[in-house]
Amino acid sequence: MHVTEISLTDWRNLSAVKLSLVDAINIFLGLNAQGKTNLIESINFASLGRSRASKDSELVRWGKDSALLRIKFFRRDIAHELAIEVSTTKRRRILLDANPLKPRELIGKLNSVLFSPEDLFMFKGSPAVRRKFLDGEISQASPVYYADLSRHNRIVDQRNNLLKKIRDGFARAADLELWDEQLAVVAEKVISKRLDAVNKLNLLANLMQRKISSHKENLSVVYEMHGLDSAENLAENFLAKLRERRFIDIKRGATGLGAHLDDLNFFVNGKELKLFGSQGQLRTVALAIKLSELQFLKSETGEYPLLLLDDVMSELDATRREMLLDFLRREKIQTLITATDRAYFPAKSFGKIFFVTAGNVVDERELFNR
Ligand code: ATP
Ligand code: MG
Repeated sequence: MHVTEISLTDWRNLSAVKLSLVDAINIFLGLNAQGKTNLIESINFASLGRSRASKDSELVRWGKDSALLRIKFFRRDIAHELAIEVSTTKRRRILLDANPLKPRELIGKLNSVLFSPEDLFMFKGSPAVRRKFLDGEISQASPVYYADLSRHNRIVDQRNNLLKKIRDGFARAADLELWDEQLAVVAEKVISKRLDAVNKLNLLANLMQRKISSHKENLSVVYEMHGLDSAENLAENFLAKLRERRFIDIKRGATGLGAHLDDLNFFVNGKELKLFGSQGQLRTVALAIKLSELQFLKSETGEYPLLLLDDVMSELDATRREMLLDFLRREKIQTLITATDRAYFPAKSFGKIFFVTAGNVVDERELFNR
């Protein structure tokens, strides 16, 4: 998978940007608040249909009504063009090769992995952050998973509404039966896919961790099921547990069992990272996890996704930076890297350098030709 061209119109502070990328390392240099993250965000948005923005209107340049994003890319050697229009008032419009796509059909078309300083907080943040990471990874490889997950979450919402109605005397507890059966079936699909993905991630991430730490550290990634002891006969056990805790759920007005409560946990040499990890270990694990996410997507889809590295060069020490750049070059992974300083990159030139200034992006050659 690789992107050849990006055009942005009124996308945050990027009013009119058109870029040709190389199928190698693309470096975006600029001072703070110039538009580097906005550019990276646009590609991540095109791959997941979400970004750091909570509403589409935040993506539109202040004072404008709509923003347009066009991306030309190759997927399994076939050229595609994706166009997304986001608006301050209307629903988003998505075209893939001039055919309309529903927002939920977008995921899995243009795959990317984003690594930003926020990922360093993933280990200590709330379980929702870790689930989002895992779900983003699996959904890009499997649109079926994404559909199952959406259905799971819809059923949980509907079941929660019903629980509240029962609690307030507007419905009967027996009405839960139908929802419980449906939830058990879809929860099994979601949880078993997650267990499978975590198994693979665990192997890949440990290999990476050992390499980055010169074989001193072993990493393990564990999927923690909330309220279930085993993944055997999952749907059956799940339904039994749901029935068991029905009255607790009614009292709380919330479903206390399901994929929406599960978590990921990380251990370095057997010690829980969130409790005992040093800053350096958090960085190493974050890097190992991101690189294994790339490998996971390659093994599932047959090709590497794009890698988006926003501002992480300053977070890594020289050894890790070198290891990362070597890996990207060796594996020929198309990468977009933002940084404030050229010093993070080796002197000998590789890839392409762009400069980002006040919402304008120019490539180095253009700059010298002026
Ligand atoms: P840093 O190095 O600090 O991370 P950056 O180059 O990544 O900087 P961005 O996060 O891309 O900076 O933001 C650039 C600017 O875009 C910000 O100063 C912000 O005010 C501006 N901006 C954000 N959203 C919009 C919008 N909807 N319309 C216009 N400008 C916006
Ligand atoms: Mg930034």
